[in-house]
Amino acid sequence: MNASYETVIGLEVHAQLRTHSKLFCGCSTQFGAPPNAHTCPTCLGLPGSLPVPNAAAIELAMRAALAVGCEVRERSVFERKNYFYPDLAKGYQISQYALPLNVAGKLEVETEAGGRRVIGITRIHLEEDAAKNLHSSAAAQTLVDFNRAGVALIEIVSEPDLRSSAEAEQYLRNLREILMAVGVNDGNLEEGSFRCDANVSIRAPGATELGTRTELKNINSFRFVRKAIDYEAARHHAVIAGGGKIVQETRLWDDAQGKTVPMRSKEEAMDYRYFPDPDLPPIVVSAAQIEAAAGVLPELPATKRARYVAELGLTAADAGVLTSHPALSGFFEATVEELSSRLGGRIEPARAGKRAANFIQAEVLRDFSADGLEASLPLSAAALSELLALLEAGSISGKMAKGVLAEMIASGKPAAKIVEEQGLSQVSDSALIEEVVRKVVDGSPDNVAAYRAGKQNVVGWFVGQVMKETRGQANPRMVNELLRKLLEGE
Ligand SMILES: [Zn+2]
Repeated sequence: MNASYETVIGLEVHAQLRTHSKLFCGCSTQFGAPPNAHTCPTCLGLPGSLPVPNAAAIELAMRAALAVGCEVRERSVFERKNYFYPDLAKGYQISQYALPLNVAGKLEVETEAGGRRVIGITRIHLEEDAAKNLHSSAAAQTLVDFNRAGVALIEIVSEPDLRSSAEAEQYLRNLREILMAVGVNDGNLEEGSFRCDANVSIRAPGATELGTRTELKNINSFRFVRKAIDYEAARHHAVIAGGGKIVQETRLWDDAQGKTVPMRSKEEAMDYRYFPDPDLPPIVVSAAQIEAAAGVLPELPATKRARYVAELGLTAADAGVLTSHPALSGFFEATVEELSSRLGGRIEPARAGKRAANFIQAEVLRDFSADGLEASLPLSAAALSELLALLEAGSISGKMAKGVLAEMIASGKPAAKIVEEQGLSQVSDSALIEEVVRKVVDGSPDNVAAYRAGKQNVVGWFVGQVMKETRGQANPRMVNELLRKLLEGE
């Protein structure tokens, strides 16, 4: 079989909207509550209860759509998707089918070759989440937790435009970043608030029709996405090469076994017998409401990255790290701004940007997880900018700054106070440093002679002596400059 068969991937992402209450009732959406603590007749699916749409969820769904260039439709319809499963007490899920809220968007991905490709987004519709089955093998029983039932989701359906597992991962990372940046989703894969299913098929070179696809579920990390798609594409190749046919079905990624396993034969849409929910009127949004949602969109991550590179002198890689979470980019920008204002504008924006970017990445991010629900930083931008201003002014060395930062985080004291208490301030008085350097040079004619005979590395010994004399507080750059000057006999 021809190895140049093309892999075709489409993704369906379920992203939980950041609303305080569920999509059709007032129950809390807080994660981690005891099972069935956040329930009421509506989300338990009791007969006679009536759903009431959550306006905040509709607003967030529009915001997500506008951030990826979708068209928001002024009239859309909630429909019932009928199926039987223990986590679905009503016997149907309220979703959108024929008339979704948002259609026809796009998202750019970076290709492995370094280029860019536009991936189409078919639709973004609103739906409610199902409950969660908890299987206990010890007790040989399955329990159902309805806390998640009725939580507001958007499903973002891509076109089958992705051609490799690497592109699929890139698409998911970019999408997650955008949804977090616009405040729609918390991006938490572990808690299931950002989940993905992948439709995978392969086709012969030049073929225009899609091959039979399989749908992969249970891909709850970026690492699994790559592994599951690669495994599945290879399985399709092997089946077709062996003269077999791919069966359209839903398969689960089993990470322990490193393979996908059949789950159920794939239902067609007609099996769900969709029809408009008679309890819910169509969603009608005005042009003014759509415009208002567009008006509150913040700067998107791609634009932010370009600005960091152009205005703040960052490398693309550094800009990528600092825009990976809105809390982090906000912290970085506030630090740069405070640093510039502390130094009364006597620092170029690119220098302030690089200084803050380097220090934050090297020293502050050690314990920061961009995957956390509410990512937290160990200190405020104002506190950090005070430390960076001392560093920029040469009052403390880079090495001292690390120690001061640790103490700031431990004690919460401001940088200047710690520097004062510990008697740390770096000596940048050139006359004073020159005096010590002269003393050390004059006191060791042997090493001076060695240096002049070509043994350049004795400089290190001299620096060590000067640092000893000044208890480590001499500005190392100035010490080096003066030493070279004296040793060269200038
Ligand atoms: Zn409820």
